[in-house]
Amino acid sequence: MVGKICVIGAGPSGLSVLCWFAKMSREGKQIPEIVCYEKQSDWGGLWNYTWRTGSDEHGEPIHGSMYRYLWSNGPKECLEFPHYTFEDHYGKAIPSFPPREVLFDYLKGRWGKEDIKKYVKFSTVVRDVVYNKATDNFTVSVKDLVKDEVQDSQDFDYVIVASGHYSVPNVPHFEGIEKFPGRVMHAHDFRDANEFKGKRLLLIGASYSAEDIALQCLKYGAESIICTWRSKPMGFTWPKEISERPLVQKFEGKTAFFKDGSQAEVDAVMMCTGYLHSYPYLRESLRLKSKNVLYPPGLYKGIVWQEGGNNKLLYAGVQDQYYTYTMFDVVGLWIAKYIMNDGISLPDAATMDADWKAWVARNKTLKDCMEEIDFQTDFVQDLVKEIGPADYPYDLDVKEMFYSWEHDKDVDVLSYRDKSFASKFTGTKSPIHHTTFMKALDDSLQTFMGN
Ligand code: FAD
Ligand code: NAP
Repeated sequence: MVGKICVIGAGPSGLSVLCWFAKMSREGKQIPEIVCYEKQSDWGGLWNYTWRTGSDEHGEPIHGSMYRYLWSNGPKECLEFPHYTFEDHYGKAIPSFPPREVLFDYLKGRWGKEDIKKYVKFSTVVRDVVYNKATDNFTVSVKDLVKDEVQDSQDFDYVIVASGHYSVPNVPHFEGIEKFPGRVMHAHDFRDANEFKGKRLLLIGASYSAEDIALQCLKYGAESIICTWRSKPMGFTWPKEISERPLVQKFEGKTAFFKDGSQAEVDAVMMCTGYLHSYPYLRESLRLKSKNVLYPPGLYKGIVWQEGGNNKLLYAGVQDQYYTYTMFDVVGLWIAKYIMNDGISLPDAATMDADWKAWVARNKTLKDCMEEIDFQTDFVQDLVKEIGPADYPYDLDVKEMFYSWEHDKDVDVLSYRDKSFASKFTGTKSPIHHTTFMKALDDSLQTFMGN
């Protein structure tokens, strides 16, 4: 039996690990001692919305990248827990694309089913993790942010890295941007779209943040939005206020110059250029280095770090995400069963090596979002298979719903959130929301539920 494990981060990934261990304990199994360190003062990770940007009250970098008025960008039926459905939580069926607060409430309901807060040391940031070869364990150093005190370091048998990868912004440089006479920012610091009312906005990037922030800003009154792309445009049929242009090359004053020779005057620039995997508290041999991809390298089953730590350093939730809550759910259970030596064991090093390399190679061949959806479905289903039907008797494959969602976006990016999907687990088709997404300015739980 394992002695002691450390979980870094109390977001959806870390809490999933805690929930499964707590369930095992509730069922009478002897579980290891667990300590979860969380630098924020409450649980939820990115879902724990903050108005702050820059640094927090202790001078730590702000983790939150979520903004006010954020609504789910995928159908909730694609992330629904099979063992705790939205109907279980809300006592009725609700529309398919809820705002942030409604999804967070649902998550809190699932976490509240187990007694897990007792494992979490809040306002405690992990500063250093070392693997000790001689003793085959880890030494973890943390700081209590409230007391402003570095604590005595502790030893752990396993470390689970669940600190997220959408918090450290990727901020490229563009010629002349240092003299741009207006707001220049990254999406990480975006909070309230009202700030851009009546403004001409330039968004750099062509992925989910650019797409969603363009719609948000239009909804709350921006005059115009240009999205500028590097590899390929998003290609949606945009309303007249939103357009796409090839990558901006330089700025002169307020004028942006694009690769196709065109130019435009803008009032603000927002980089929707994604995030960096960043694990500053891990020693070099333990540190994952990757772009935001569906299968980062060096991880058996997308979880077990291969380059150091003797298979006892586990990463949770490091994949780019179509599947979210359900993927974190099975990653958490796989980890708990592996640590408990409960039906999951590792093959030899050569087999693990070949396994993750095959996934990474396949990841590189994916041509479009449909193939990406298939890939992540296979990844999730592979973990479910390893866990076994006795512990996870659910089919999480929702690729058909993801295909419909992608199709709806292609048909009309303004109204795809007004569609309704049926729950895979209850069969209930969601009601249509009382207000269409582009008209729903109040995103509160109370208003959303008042239909
Ligand atoms: P996080 O939620 O990032 O949690 C990581 C936790 O680790 C945080 O609490 C952080 O404080 C803590 N931590 C970090 N470093 C340390 C340290 N050194 N010491 C101690 N604690 C530390 N998903 C959806 O399903 N639906 C959506 O609508 C959706 N919208 C999104 C919108 C935005 C703008 C972004 C960026 C992501 C969105 N996501 C969405 C995806 C999101 O990544 C997941 O839903 C989920 O939050 C990931 O959980 P996580 O636990 O892996 O990471
Ligand atoms: P992302 O998906 O990693 O995309 C990053 C984008 O930035 C890509 O278009 C990339 O272009 C571009 N880029 C990177 N470096 C660049 C450079 N130097 N110059 C020009 N362009 C550059 O990141 P994201 O869009 O921020 O999404 C992150 C996560 O947040 C996703 O999981 C998403 O689902 C989530 N999110 C959810 C919501 C919501 O639910 N409402 C809203 C926003 C975000 P290339 O293609 O050329 O690499």
